[in-house]
Parts: sequence; C-alpha cells; structure tokens
Amino acid sequence: MKIAIDVDDVLADFNNHFAQFINTHFGYSVSSQEFFSFRYEESLGCTTKKAYEMVDTFFASPDFAEIAPLIGAVEGVEELKKHHELIVITARQERIAQETLDFLTRHFGVFYSEVVFTGQSREPESRKTKAQACKERGVDYLIEDHFDYAKQCADLGIKVLMIDVPWNQHAKELPPEIRRVTGWQEIVAILNSAQ
Ligand SMILES: [Mg+2]
Repeated sequence: MKIAIDVDDVLADFNNHFAQFINTHFGYSVSSQEFFSFRYEESLGCTTKKAYEMVDTFFASPDFAEIAPLIGAVEGVEELKKHHELIVITARQERIAQETLDFLTRHFGVFYSEVVFTGQSREPESRKTKAQACKERGVDYLIEDHFDYAKQCADLGIKVLMIDVPWNQHAKELPPEIRRVTGWQEIVAILNSAQ
C-alpha cells in the first residue's frame, strides 16, 4: 500500500518540545497534555500573532533540532517500509524544509519516496490540502494527528489512522474512514494486517 505519514506529533515529538521551549523562554508553565486545541492561541489564551511569534522563535532556535522522534516511530517506520511505499506529507512550510529533512535523515534515514510540504499550517486557504496531495498520489492511508486534515482526507475517501492526542479529543464522532489509534504499535499492527 501507499502510506502518507505526517511529521509533527506523528514522527516528531513536536508539542512536548514546544511546550518545554515556551516554558523556558516565554514564561509559561504548561504541558503538551494541556493543548486541547490544534491552535496554540486557544490552548494558551494568547493572540494568534503571539502564537506564531513563539513558533517562529522555536524554529530559529537550536532547540528545534533537538526534537526527538515520537515514541515508537523509528521502529514503526522500520517495520512499515518493509511492506509499503512510504511518503511524508507535512503542513510545515518550505522555509523549514532543510531542517525537516535533517530531522528525518538523522533519526529515520531515507525511508520515503517523497516529502511534501503543503504549507497549510500558516496559509490554510491558499494552499493545497493534505487530502488533495494524498489523492493526487493515490495514497491508501494517512497517519495523522490533526482532525481537520484527517477529515479532509476522509471526505475524499482516503483512510486515516489518527493518533489519539489531547488536541483531537473534540472530534467525538468520526467518519468510518478515520480510526483513532493509541500509537505506533497499533499503527503497524493495523497496516501490516490490512495489506
Ligand atoms: Mg501533525
């Protein structure tokens, strides 16, 4: 099968590292478990401008390169690549393409046939969606943590394994294409029995 994998909070343990960063540099005292929304300004009660400023400061800091892989991701990718074609689809913008490729290479090696940057994270209206990118490439499954992106895929009939995180709990009723999973162990078990 052709499987698309998201980067942040699927391959990379982004929110835990971002929470630590803003605690150290912006005076917060939060855990990523308190991020009840995908939008930091909602979880933190700040402006969108401030949220972007903190994310951009994080990107520009040495801490950004220190993000660890999500638990089980390295082993999961290692297992999936034996049986499937894997591509990476991220809503990150191309301006951090090099840092993203460096992260992937450092921890996972080159397991993918393509890396797609949709840029949706900042320009949701003007950019192609992950769902469109998946459709064009004939993707069978997307592994994702963001409910909106998962829903857009489901609307196009693409199956999604959505990792269970605090910031997608608002999605109570899921379309049949979206299956909530606990993490990488379950992802591998599902995908390797679905082939
Ligand atoms: Mg993500």
